[in-house]
Amino acid sequence: MLEKKSIGKDVESYCGKCKVSREHTIMTMDGETIAKARCKMCGSMHKFTSPLDAPKVRKPRVKKDAGELAEAAWTAGLAEAKGKERDYSMALKYRIGDIVNHQVFGKGIVMKLHANKCDMLFKDRERLMASTNQ
Ligand SMILES: [Zn+2]
Repeated sequence: MLEKKSIGKDVESYCGKCKVSREHTIMTMDGETIAKARCKMCGSMHKFTSPLDAPKVRKPRVKKDAGELAEAAWTAGLAEAKGKERDYSMALKYRIGDIVNHQVFGKGIVMKLHANKCDMLFKDRERLMASTNQ
């Protein structure tokens, strides 16, 4: 059964912000065609674009984008980090901006301190690591 499109109904549209086709809510209609839709994920309202008209992408980019973002932040963080570079040990005390060398994860930057833990940004993603903070 074909559902009639109307304002407030769900529709699949391409979101230019999310760069992916996903569920949207119909916001405005132009006669029988959908004019504007709002993305349920990012909340942005834009011209309705049928998923069929979406720019072609070879593969889903969501995961890769996250990795690329982490790597970009990591590269920038390393360039800016002024702290000492040491091998990672949970017995060490860190300060924000310290650089650690981890056996498995490689080089990381101390981003945030918690009680006995700190957030370290490694090339692929941020990890919560044990440390000896006050
Ligand atoms: Zn979106």
